[in-house]
Amino acid sequence: MTSVGVVGAGVMGAGVAHSAALAGHEVVLVDVRPAALHAAVRRVQRDCRMSRLLTGRSVDTAAVLGRITTAENVSALRDCEIVVENVTEKWEVKRPVYAELDAACPAETIFIGNTSAIPITRLGSATNRPDRVIGVHFMNPVPMKSAVELIPGRLTSAETVKRTREFLETMDKEPIAVKDSCGFISNRVLMLTVNEAAFLVHEGVATAAAVDEVFRNCFGHPSGPLETADLIGIDTVLYSLEVLYEHYADPKYRPCPLLREMTDAGLHGRKAGEGFFGYEPVGEERG
Ligand code: NAD
Repeated sequence: MTSVGVVGAGVMGAGVAHSAALAGHEVVLVDVRPAALHAAVRRVQRDCRMSRLLTGRSVDTAAVLGRITTAENVSALRDCEIVVENVTEKWEVKRPVYAELDAACPAETIFIGNTSAIPITRLGSATNRPDRVIGVHFMNPVPMKSAVELIPGRLTSAETVKRTREFLETMDKEPIAVKDSCGFISNRVLMLTVNEAAFLVHEGVATAAAVDEVFRNCFGHPSGPLETADLIGIDTVLYSLEVLYEHYADPKYRPCPLLREMTDAGLHGRKAGEGFFGYEPVGEERG
């Protein structure tokens, strides 16, 4: 059993807290917004029930929830051996969080960055322990997805890689090693597809339903790029594209204006109850 800190209690933080608690770890979940913490606990409760329906395996929801405590300040992570960071995909938001974690946690604590695109070496630069900073790109929904991208930064030590692999093993996550590069493998490709799909809708070439239908019915994909965007969060898609655009200074990553408009309008996808498609409200924003 490891004492695990999880910072950021949104879509991913809730999923990481769930998976870590399910694996028997004691979890301290931190967010600056109490509403996000309440919603995350509700989400874990709902997903425990859902996984019983989907997998047929019974999950002791009370035991999982009993291993998760919540806090509004990273000082609550002072005893954690591993911290998984899942705050908003913006460097100006993440950077001070790493500095705060560096001050709050013991020197041996490993910081795992769960970012969609920000290079891990950059995250490490916000701390005095770049050898103990590593990237794990968890997939959404975290409890249902068994593979992750494992990304050592330029200065990440072999010991940190080893401890992180051991931690992932406890959660039954299969790491795929990826070199540090903005967007890694997954989002270098996925974000271009999602952005181009959004442009098709923005330009009136096709409806969102038609775009996704082509991917599902012609290519046999389980879901289309716009449903995937709704699952990720339209705001997170926009911020990831902004990170890629700034990093590579390449116009191919320029975000579709429709994504910006939807983000400004609060149409953040599944977590908000509405994005390219409509959903049963489950997240904090509508529920
Ligand atoms: P989200 O918007 O659902 O949640 C982000 C949370 O961070 C919010 O609850 C916010 O209040 C919190 N936060 C912001 N500043 C904070 C601070 N200073 N201290 C503590 N909490 C703070 O976003 P998400 O989808 O959960 O994404 C989190 C991270 O995971 C991002 O870096 C994202 O790119 C990455 N990611 C997302 C997905 C996905 O499918 N959504 C998949 C893999 C990785």
